Amino acid sequence: MTREAGMALGRLSERAFAVVAGAWPVEPPAPDDVRLLLDSADEATADALKAAASRARDSGLGPRLVARALIEISSYCGNSCRYCGLNACNRLARRYSLSEDEIVESASRAFRAGLRTIVLQSGEDGRDTAELSAIIGAVKRAGFRPDAVDGAGYPAVTLSLGERPEADYAAWKEAGADRYLMRMETGDRELYAALHDGRGLDSRLACHAALRRLGYQLGSGIMVGLPGQSVSGIALDLASMAGGRYAMLGIGPFIPHPDTPLGDETPGDMGLALRATALARICSPWSWIPATTAMASQERDYRVDALLYGANVVMPNFSPAYARGAYAIYPGKRCAAESDDEQRPERATDSLRRLADAAGLAVDPGRADDAWL
Ligand code: SAH
Repeated sequence: MTREAGMALGRLSERAFAVVAGAWPVEPPAPDDVRLLLDSADEATADALKAAASRARDSGLGPRLVARALIEISSYCGNSCRYCGLNACNRLARRYSLSEDEIVESASRAFRAGLRTIVLQSGEDGRDTAELSAIIGAVKRAGFRPDAVDGAGYPAVTLSLGERPEADYAAWKEAGADRYLMRMETGDRELYAALHDGRGLDSRLACHAALRRLGYQLGSGIMVGLPGQSVSGIALDLASMAGGRYAMLGIGPFIPHPDTPLGDETPGDMGLALRATALARICSPWSWIPATTAMASQERDYRVDALLYGANVVMPNFSPAYARGAYAIYPGKRCAAESDDEQRPERATDSLRRLADAAGLAVDPGRADDAWL
């Protein structure tokens, strides 16, 4: 974009212009400039953000799209996050826990579809540490490719199981886990405390520190549009996450779940969530950023939009069909068409290609590890 075109955006300050013009990574964007861009809902800003975010992604990680297979291994949860439909207080939530066989079978479908990362997600279900270690090992073995020439014979296993003692994280790393996803949700301490019963942000961040010490590739992220969240808070979160050099950053709109204390609140604004995605990308060019399921679960599927705003990961759902409906962290969760058919895993590949084509990206069939490794 030329300087004239940038200044024609009018409402942007010189420095916010520098953000969309791609001055970073020479100088990281300041939270004030990020806030200004988050607040600009006009089309010119959208175009500038898309261009800048795509440029940041393509120079950071290349114009690639990767798929990670999501398996929702249990809907039991002992935590009580007020936004989440699986919180311990929700008596209406349907609870299930997948067996090792079900998990390995689901992962095998993902391997047959060519995916090389398995994400095991659950509520804080208290699953036995050694049992999960055995599951991790079984998934790694099920996806082993003896013919791999790139040193990536084993698939990557990502865990997203919430807060556990460091000794558990250590055991799972030992068992072969590679990555851990744990969004900080919001970096605003007061808001975090208001949204969680008896747990503060510090306990979440202490888990991050432990996971890093153990050598996990670490993912963080936030929800956008939480009740009581400010735009300047989001800008500060994006800046702090950029400083944290996360391998992965997940950003999605808040979707009120009717059976939670926040059921009557206003949903997060999609435009704001997309701008936050673009700014996360501009601030963190080397992070893997998904077009999240929450973005697919709107009045339409916004995942291509998210890719145009700098995202580069999709996470098709490979949970068994019965589990997909029960794992209701928010209502209307769209189980994207690519993974609906358990008998035809190759559909995942076709759908991935369609998403990549629509966003001008090339499908990367590899593990897509942390770019810092
Ligand atoms: N137990 C794991 C996984 C949580 S579910 C953990 O603690 O990390 C994965 C993510 O879904 C959460 O991190 C949160 O950001 C998101 N989420 C939960 N409830 C949501 C809601 N109502 N709307 C949008 N996203 C939500």
